[in-house]
Amino acid sequence: MHELSIATAVIDEVSKHVSRAGGGRVLSITLRIGRLSCVQEGALRMSFDLASADTELSGARLEIIDVAVRIWCPACATERELPGVQSLACPACGHVSGDIRAGRELDLDSIELEPLPPPSIEQTATEPDSTALQPLQQRNEP
Ligand SMILES: [Zn+2]
Repeated sequence: MHELSIATAVIDEVSKHVSRAGGGRVLSITLRIGRLSCVQEGALRMSFDLASADTELSGARLEIIDVAVRIWCPACATERELPGVQSLACPACGHVSGDIRAGRELDLDSIELEPLPPPSIEQTATEPDSTALQPLQQRNEP
């Protein structure tokens, strides 16, 4: 399934960002999906839920930004947004153009992480000094 491999790739990419950021639970992910990328939103959401079940992305909200197709029309000498994906003809003059400027996107736009709780006084006081200098990602590991 096309959408499942996309979901898996997105989850891998997000996981990398999350571990670089020091770990934490992912609240939401925003993807930019062009109308020419042939991604079925429903199938992608289902695949995402399946593939993220045992990861730190489990339960994260999937936001999808729908990107319309835009072509460069040489006759009008301007960029035109197309109402659909059936034809690549300029909606103003009918000129067919293969110069696609937008609509093929399949990008990770943003990731929202759960904010880390502020360190409480008790916690900092009881923590041994030796752990204080360890990098964040090591301390977050189970
Ligand atoms: Zn035109």
